[in-house]
Amino acid sequence: MKEFSAVNNIQDLQFFGEFGGVNPSISDSSTYTFLTAKAMSDTFEGKTEGCYLYSRHTSPSNLYLSQALAQMEGTESANVTASGMGAITSVLLQVCKSGDHIVSSRTIYGGTYAFMKNFLPGLKIDTSFVDITNLEAVEASITENTRMIYCETVSNPLLEVADLTALSELAKKHNLQLVVDNTFSPLMVSPNLLGADVTIHSLTKFINGSSDAVGGAICGTEDFINRLKDVNSGACMLLGPTMDSLRAASILKNLRTLHLRMKKHSENAQYLAERWEEDGLKVKYPGLQSHPQHELFSEMMNEDYGFGGLIALDVKTVEKANELMEAMQEANLGYLAVSLGFYKTLFCASGTSTSSEIPEDEQKEMGLSPGLIRFSIGLDHDIERTYLKMRECMEKTGVLQLANS
Ligand SMILES: *Cc1c(COP(=O)(O)O)cnc(C)c1O
Repeated sequence: MKEFSAVNNIQDLQFFGEFGGVNPSISDSSTYTFLTAKAMSDTFEGKTEGCYLYSRHTSPSNLYLSQALAQMEGTESANVTASGMGAITSVLLQVCKSGDHIVSSRTIYGGTYAFMKNFLPGLKIDTSFVDITNLEAVEASITENTRMIYCETVSNPLLEVADLTALSELAKKHNLQLVVDNTFSPLMVSPNLLGADVTIHSLTKFINGSSDAVGGAICGTEDFINRLKDVNSGACMLLGPTMDSLRAASILKNLRTLHLRMKKHSENAQYLAERWEEDGLKVKYPGLQSHPQHELFSEMMNEDYGFGGLIALDVKTVEKANELMEAMQEANLGYLAVSLGFYKTLFCASGTSTSSEIPEDEQKEMGLSPGLIRFSIGLDHDIERTYLKMRECMEKTGVLQLANS
């Protein structure tokens, strides 16, 4: 038997509703009564286990989802937030104070990049953006004020894979926190088991998977999660990025099918990436031998879930990218939309959408071509049929001819 199975861990949890319901009851309350006045003051001092005080702190529904996500990531604890950005900003502000420094991958989610680049300097927290696949460059940018190495397991939108084991050794050597955004690779990679200190998710994407909710999660040690929720000094408690209990309940129900969905997303993406490469297109996918970190990813990943649902396709110019995306939407092959993890394929030109926070010259330097389309491949039942229809769109818009000219 495998030592760690993220999905078995989730499935081993048993939550019943108040009346024996197969789903836990939803806690539809912002505040909670105490049987005695002393229990109330003790709870504010953090002394009473299992007492709820106010739903910005936590709620039973949020704890169910948090517990399931902690099980998934193999961490002691977790806390859910109103959005992925709510999780990211809370962690950054909890760990880093005025005068501190962050070493971050330069290929990260546009919102995270904007927060580090434009918002944190106002609080005197500076960030060095580095090529996270170049460990020497990462180490060289560490200063005496550095508190954190920040990266995404699989980066947005270039799909570079971070060597989490090596980064965690570097973090330990310099006494830093390794914080990893695992949004692109839930179940597939378990950052904490590879040495990360904190794992973050945008639940909005694969984990919820139905593009009807925004949410985030922070997974880490009991001590760190308690510090985030501390009534006197916790970023989650004081900044208030609290998930609503109704949402926590609905996301927990969707989490139940995550393993099946991830397998299908990966299977479909692997198929398309292979076909597109054969067709001479410029495609980046961690499941292809041609991907620079294919071997590394194979070593890091948990079995059964493949290489993920995202593909980056470079069709050279933004004009061609736009033409192709419009043609595919017209043919009902997917939607021209940001976000990912939906049952339907979603595509966007990253340079002019989700990564538009990154200035053009920096986009160029990191290899983000203006013609780069990010695909989040859907759960199509017959992916060969999808491929053939997409090929028609590529022929019609001249993308295929351009690639082979
Ligand atoms: C979407 C996303 C986020 C932000 O999450 P929200 O739920 O939209 O706030 C952070 N990181 C990655 C990798 C994302 O894809």
